[in-house]
Amino acid sequence: MEDLAHFINGKRTRGTSGRFGDVHNPATGEVIARVPMASPDEVNAAVAAAAEAQPAWGETNPQRRARVMMEMVRLLNRDMDKLAGALSREHGKTLPDARGDVQRGLEVIEYCIGAPQLLKGEFTDNAGTGIDMYSMRQPLGVVAAVMPFNFPAMMPLWHIGPALACGNAVVLKPSELDPSVPLMLAELFVEAGLPKGVFQVVNGDREAVDTLLDNETIQGVSFVGSTPVAQYIYARATANGKRAQCFGGAKNHMIVMPDADMDQAADALVGAGFGAAGERCMAISVAVPVGDETADRLIEKLVPRIEKLRVAPYTDGDDVDFGPVVTAAARDRILSLIESGVKQGAKLAVDNRDFRLQGYENGFFVGPHLFDHVTPDMDIYKTEIFGPVLSTVRAGSYEEALKLAMDHEYGNGTAIFTRDGDTARDFAHRVNIGMVGINVPIPVPLAYHTFGGWKRSMFGDLNQHGPDSFRFYTRTKTVTSRWPSGLKEGGEFHFKAID
Ligand code: NAD
Repeated sequence: MEDLAHFINGKRTRGTSGRFGDVHNPATGEVIARVPMASPDEVNAAVAAAAEAQPAWGETNPQRRARVMMEMVRLLNRDMDKLAGALSREHGKTLPDARGDVQRGLEVIEYCIGAPQLLKGEFTDNAGTGIDMYSMRQPLGVVAAVMPFNFPAMMPLWHIGPALACGNAVVLKPSELDPSVPLMLAELFVEAGLPKGVFQVVNGDREAVDTLLDNETIQGVSFVGSTPVAQYIYARATANGKRAQCFGGAKNHMIVMPDADMDQAADALVGAGFGAAGERCMAISVAVPVGDETADRLIEKLVPRIEKLRVAPYTDGDDVDFGPVVTAAARDRILSLIESGVKQGAKLAVDNRDFRLQGYENGFFVGPHLFDHVTPDMDIYKTEIFGPVLSTVRAGSYEEALKLAMDHEYGNGTAIFTRDGDTARDFAHRVNIGMVGINVPIPVPLAYHTFGGWKRSMFGDLNQHGPDSFRFYTRTKTVTSRWPSGLKEGGEFHFKAID
């Protein structure tokens, strides 16, 4: 069994705390590696080394930093299959999903090649006679990124890329459940020309995170994960005077209007509800058909599609629809939520509670489930299940469907399926949710737009990737300058002129 490491000053470094966590292959249930849990001393040493490396990187001109990003894109493409294989082995998602995970991260690195353009400041000539004013974007210094298990390539790349392109040093704390790919990314960055120490990886759990949050050198914290942890990290980081952006959980509703193409809506729901075993913050977990007749038609289309889904390990070929969930604890939690749904009166239209995969009895598999007649008071509606479970809540009208999505505590993504432009526009305009799809079930914005939810899906101000990421990872400095020729007519007058 492999012992994983941290990545400090350009190389893998053994953990010294003596504490380890188990890394599983979720398809077989086997422990395949141990990940070291960093002690506070190890975390603080990694931050101190990052602080030493950062000034020279911050002084490196943006084109040179962009060239590292350009080379990184090439290396990610070169190693795509290797990364995807390592990712599937620890996460459980299918190989096409794992390649997508790397690809969506790579696209943000491509965006970061535009750093010289994105970091340009502003200039006002003659703000007062002989006085010029200009603003510039400077790196924060050392920043921390604490990442979730569900996209072990994409999520770190969304944060490391812009943070580095802006001239920061980064200390990444990946999920302890699938830490191999982040370590591989660190090696690739060094191969791409990133100076040693500018990107450190410390593995660990809450102890490592708390150390980062309390470390005075860390200037900014990016977090992606569940809402209670997002809220905790936001509170502690900002109380310590740090800039923070913390992205949390989701319960994404898809509204199906009576005029929607029902085959398209059903296909979309199956892909968005069950892809990656539902372990996506943009998964659709609630279908909201408007009217009983729409609901009956939709359920009739959904059931055979869901029953046909192929649940298997990633090694079983590219036609696997989804694999296991990430841990035994996640599987047990999902199954107990399904039981609660049955007890609280929802109807299981597809019931796979006895799902077992021959040869993989110790794997963390959960079969696909479809609930009908779910109501907002039920736990399966209120909770983010993060598994292959789709709930149907029947709405009497469009207004009722809209209110349902708006009243939910989460506001990450949502979608509407309709042929009616007026309804679609009204929905996009009024809904209090950060990312909206119109006949698009998973409306993940591309790298040059920004990604972020509303309500309890996000704590902070600035979104992930796109222009917001360059704002988050830089501070603005504004300079007012006057040269002697501007003083010719008397300095006092000129100061007044810009009051
Ligand atoms: P998680 O909150 O359990 O863990 C995320 C990270 O926080 C990990 O690195 C973990 O080690 C650390 N952590 C866990 N508990 C902590 C604590 N008490 N104190 C400090 N650090 C702690 O989340 P997860 O299970 O890895 O990821 C799934 C969650 O992430 C889902 O809720 C999903 O919706 C969310 N997610 C959100 C987005 C988004 O952009 N909004 C994207 C991806 C995933």
